[in-house]
Amino acid sequence: MKRIVKLLGRLIYLCMTLTLLVACQSQDYKDNKENPGNQDTQDNKDNSGNQDTQDNQDNQGSKDNHNTIETSQLSDNIWLMNDNGEASGYIVVGSDKAAVIDTMNGSENVQDVVRTVTDLPLIVINTHGHPDHVYGNAYFDEAYIHPDDVSLAQESYRYPEYNDLRGKLKAAAFKTTEEGDSFDLGGITLEIYGIPGHTNGGICILDREDRVLFTGDSINRHCWMQLDTCSSMEDFYLALQRLNIIRADYDYILHGHAQRFEDATLYEEHMAAVKEVIDGTNAADDQDYEYFGGRCKIHYSSDGVGIVYNP
Ligand SMILES: [Zn+2]
Ligand SMILES: [Zn+2]
Repeated sequence: MKRIVKLLGRLIYLCMTLTLLVACQSQDYKDNKENPGNQDTQDNKDNSGNQDTQDNQDNQGSKDNHNTIETSQLSDNIWLMNDNGEASGYIVVGSDKAAVIDTMNGSENVQDVVRTVTDLPLIVINTHGHPDHVYGNAYFDEAYIHPDDVSLAQESYRYPEYNDLRGKLKAAAFKTTEEGDSFDLGGITLEIYGIPGHTNGGICILDREDRVLFTGDSINRHCWMQLDTCSSMEDFYLALQRLNIIRADYDYILHGHAQRFEDATLYEEHMAAVKEVIDGTNAADDQDYEYFGGRCKIHYSSDGVGIVYNP
């Protein structure tokens, strides 16, 4: 059993590495806010239709070798950290504290990167326990995560990839946070909402003042729902539906593989894509999808949201 869990974990890591570029590059960038620091805007737009895994593997191979996290300021209080195009984290700066939302693969010292933006005391929050969102915790003393994802995150630290890239760094201690919690950064309050589905302990984080919802991998443009650790598609849909209570409270979404603000309508687009999978809409057109755990299917909605699932 332990070997199976370990294998599955490695598969998650490797698959994500291969597919995250797809997630990033297949985004629709309408209604973007200004993104003054981002040098890759044109490249990303040019690649926006790219859904070919081989191309993305090739692109990844040509990238600098795991040692660059680029920061760009998205708004007065929010910075994006782009970890080699494989994962995105965010810095939200209040008047008293700053929050680091996801620490990505941590291909360089994430705390040093954050310190180029702010000297304030830091709170680290992980949207879920997958390696490409928690590895950079190694550069902090502690990180908040939903209790249902603690073991998943701890398992991530046992992969050889973690030790290879982070050497002898110790994993940060986990503190737990769940729906109903909020973090006061001074002038900005972050509210936690539980969205089990992609993982059991997935959370979304609402920044009410900036009207931004941070969604991790719970709402994005290329969502993995085929893993053993994912919920049923029906339960995921119900969890997403509950988010409706805050639908009027944000205008933008920043997910775990975004390169800039996405319009809030990604919520409806993502929900519609999940519902289509449940209903079997145009299922005959769904493409085969290979990953390290085997073969499954991917359904693309007319909005271009891809949901990977086991038929
Ligand atoms: Zn994930
Ligand atoms: Zn991810």
